[in-house]
Amino acid sequence: MRVLVVEDEHKIAQSIKKGLEQEHYAVDLMFTGPTGVEAALSEDYDVIILDVMLPEISGIDICRELRKQQLHTPILMLTARGQVHEKVDGLNSGADDYLTKPFAFEELLARLQALLRRPKNQLDATLTVSDLTMDTITYQVLRDGKTIQLSQKEYSMLEYLMRHKGQALSKDQIINHVWDYESDVLPNTVEVYVGYLRNKIDKPFKSLPPLIQTIRGFGYKIG
Ligand code: CA
Repeated sequence: MRVLVVEDEHKIAQSIKKGLEQEHYAVDLMFTGPTGVEAALSEDYDVIILDVMLPEISGIDICRELRKQQLHTPILMLTARGQVHEKVDGLNSGADDYLTKPFAFEELLARLQALLRRPKNQLDATLTVSDLTMDTITYQVLRDGKTIQLSQKEYSMLEYLMRHKGQALSKDQIINHVWDYESDVLPNTVEVYVGYLRNKIDKPFKSLPPLIQTIRGFGYKIG
């Protein structure tokens, strides 16, 4: 899953990026309001973390603008301690949740995961496709009761496929949700990673139907 962080304090932004990357997320940082708006509208993020206190435009105005542009990506706002009006204005401007600074990384992560579960019928923290399950809190992946060890990128790609089970996903869509904008990824890289995933979730289970399907000339789907 891919996250946009808009925060002018570089140290905080970098530490969020580092922490989230260790949790399998692809993270883009924008340090100003205008670049944040531009990125949010041009790339396809799964969730946006938006600081309220930005020098040029406030996070609240950014949020209002993004909603006006019909962007429905979940937004987690970072607010200052004790600023009740910021929280209220933030939620009124279309943010989905807020977190008060300073915060513990674990809380940021938990709120982010809750926002990712929110879109319709995904209230369960465990994703299921046939006999394959993924616990998005503990990162445990099981097929037919057996634990499957995945690398961070493999996990990230499988999570994206499983969150959209039954849907044909193009290679570009997969790239956009699994890699950040600094990564140089070619459609061929997606094929390589799908190959790794098949080696772990399909090939060892010969008696079971394969889960990952190729949509020729387009991309892949699971289930
Ligand atoms: Ca700030």
